[in-house]
Amino acid sequence: MSSHILILGGTTEARALAGLLHAADPGLRVTSSLAGRVAAPRLPAGEVRIGGFGGPEGLAAWLRGHAVDAVIDATHPFAERISFNAAAAAATAHVPLLALRRPGWVPADGDDWHEVASLDAAAAALDGLGDRVFLTTGRMGLAAFAGRPEWFLVRSVDAPDAPMPARAEVLLDRGPFTLDGERELIRRHRLDVLVTKDSGGAATAPKLTAAREAGIPVVVVRRPPVPEGVPTAATPEEAAEWVRARARGAGDVTAPGATDTAGTR
Ligand code: NAP
Repeated sequence: MSSHILILGGTTEARALAGLLHAADPGLRVTSSLAGRVAAPRLPAGEVRIGGFGGPEGLAAWLRGHAVDAVIDATHPFAERISFNAAAAAATAHVPLLALRRPGWVPADGDDWHEVASLDAAAAALDGLGDRVFLTTGRMGLAAFAGRPEWFLVRSVDAPDAPMPARAEVLLDRGPFTLDGERELIRRHRLDVLVTKDSGGAATAPKLTAAREAGIPVVVVRRPPVPEGVPTAATPEEAAEWVRARARGAGDVTAPGATDTAGTR
């Protein structure tokens, strides 16, 4: 019977999962872990701890020290290091691990997507796409764009640190965003190109529709893979079912709807 679940969080899905588990069984101990990057994070139901664990060894020690029965890695699809740390720590501590990953976005008719593998490649892909860039990849990693000649509208939750592009305006905002709002930003700032990670999910998807309508290209940074051998769930509901299946003693880490993605992503 699972009694202590650790959710590695920082996403809408992680909060939703904590809420689902807490509502289904208030007796279940659910701890959500946040990196501490955002100044005023939205807090989930249940217990919350904030800050890094100290690498995979630190996380493995935390799992053992807090008698964790299962871990859900519900971090952002681009939070690569913590996901690999979670895979290593779960293996060391012999604790089952599930990755909760919202599905990626797919291009629709009329989209002009330029898919790239990294932020550096996204910066290079801007050559010839226009002078006014809507940069929505978050405040980390802006150094990749620091040497670019274009003007940037940089949108992030908290203020970015240097280095960042020389010609830039920072817009502090947090999703969900509306289609009307995104249309207005593209119009008002006369934006020529959008740069985004393939974050997936509905909260930040309207910018893609607005870009399609405006006929502007989109540079899309592809996701890093889920660590090999870690099963995945696409929704908080699937992840909650995985927890319930374990609590029932099913002993099978692949829940209905959860997919074993080993070697496939
Ligand atoms: P990252 O590069 O994968 O992780 C860097 C380090 O931050 C980790 O090694 C770990 O430190 C700590 N860390 C990350 N997530 C943590 C968590 N949930 N709880 C405790 N420690 C955590 O992560 P990142 O890309 O900087 O993202 C940080 C957080 O922001 C993540 O939780 C993620 O869900 C959220 N987020 C990220 C993005 C994005 O685009 N990357 C977007 C939205 C939200 P230790 O090694 O010391 O344990």
